[in-house]
Amino acid sequence: MTFIIIFSFFIVGLIVGSFLNVVIFRYNTKKTFGGRSGCMTCQNKLCWYELIPLISFFALRGRCKNCKSKISIQYPLVELTTALVFVGLFLKFQNVFYFNTFVFYITVAYYAIMFSLLLVISVYDLRHKIIPDMLALILGTLSFIGLFFFAGYSFNPHIPSLWEFLSGVVVAVPFALIWLISKGKWMGLGDAKLVIGIGWLVGIGRMLSGVVLSFWLGAIIGLLMIFFSKKYSIKSEIPFAPFLVLGAILAFIFDIHLFQVWF
Ligand SMILES: [Zn+2]
Repeated sequence: MTFIIIFSFFIVGLIVGSFLNVVIFRYNTKKTFGGRSGCMTCQNKLCWYELIPLISFFALRGRCKNCKSKISIQYPLVELTTALVFVGLFLKFQNVFYFNTFVFYITVAYYAIMFSLLLVISVYDLRHKIIPDMLALILGTLSFIGLFFFAGYSFNPHIPSLWEFLSGVVVAVPFALIWLISKGKWMGLGDAKLVIGIGWLVGIGRMLSGVVLSFWLGAIIGLLMIFFSKKYSIKSEIPFAPFLVLGAILAFIFDIHLFQVWF
């Protein structure tokens, strides 16, 4: 039974992930989010079996059926990541709440929406090396509203405590200072804006652990990219937001506490 539920969450995640890809590719372009997807190169409209998340990419061996141009690896990666996040949320919250209750669904839905938004921001940052202010603002607003409903990571309407308010600011202030001192070289102002929303979303303890994880992940993956790809050198600008988001998601889903947090 549990397997069927996990599988359902995986499938829903794949479908949401393929929608996120559409949002990422069309955000800030004149295209609407509706309408059938076409090949980026030859504009050939895709038929049903080219639109199945994850499977189509491998069935077509990563190339357009019509013009044989390469399909971005972003499609399967975003679909798979979203699916894994959705399964992670189910596994995390099924231990906390009774499955199939209102509290379970509203909590999972909230975090699923917020992490989907974070994935869009990360991949957009990877592609364009900028975090759109509008997306950071939407994230900040929703996670601030979320403070009033999801304390302690369950649906629990309340007035947030001082520490809950501060969770958005604690990391954002030093990040903004790093941005200021380095004149934007070590850190973008977008990263500082982003961690306000992430902090309110996951709380102080997980936020701090997530930041440490993101520095480790960034260092390891950055070094691998420099060693194995000719495109990158030690001077390359590598977007930090994807690592911040990955760190926060891991810290949240696996409840990682690297610090003895007393609040
Ligand atoms: Zn094509």
